[in-house]
Amino acid sequence: MATVQLGEETFNRAKLLNVGYTETLKDAEYDCFIFSDVDLIPMDDRNLYHCYDQPRHFAIAMDKFGFRLPYAGYFGGVSGLSKKQFLKINGFPNEYWGWGGEDDDIYNRITLNGMKVSRPDVRIGRYRMIKHERDKHNEPNPQRFNKIQNTKNTMKKDGISSLTYRLVQVKRYPLYTDISVEIGKPPPRPIKG
Ligand code: BGC
Repeated sequence: MATVQLGEETFNRAKLLNVGYTETLKDAEYDCFIFSDVDLIPMDDRNLYHCYDQPRHFAIAMDKFGFRLPYAGYFGGVSGLSKKQFLKINGFPNEYWGWGGEDDDIYNRITLNGMKVSRPDVRIGRYRMIKHERDKHNEPNPQRFNKIQNTKNTMKKDGISSLTYRLVQVKRYPLYTDISVEIGKPPPRPIKG
């Protein structure tokens, strides 16, 4: 399933992943979900896309980070959770608008709920990123540093349990389904003063 955010509002990766989860479950009772950025190509076919005892981080050695984890708690790029693991963390946050932080929030959700991240060997979890310019409407989110300090308080309310969106189009192809959705926009920022 490929999930596209319609309109000109700020990008929201984690909310789109929640939408993908919800929409695939309308097709069949899947019990394992692999969430992948569109620009990442796995380099080693021993990096098996299935679910594990613990939430899985697949993209651990990306070319842009010198084929290493950039930091121990990195959970970006490509990840996989069973339905049970996903529901245990109330899915992914819907409130990260713009670039950054949402994958760190997901990492926090996993550890705060008593799970650990599982990873392949660093020689196997290798990826190339397709070169592209930074997308419009995906500026770094300045609130991300504060938000990732608060996962413990926000995760119960903000997640798959609070997801709302409007499904606009579904296109079925032989190997995947392309969906387009309206997911809203960031709340207005309070004026300081
Ligand atoms: C951001 C993450 C991002 C990582 C690597 C962190 O500072 O919060 O969202 O994946 O950097 O670029």
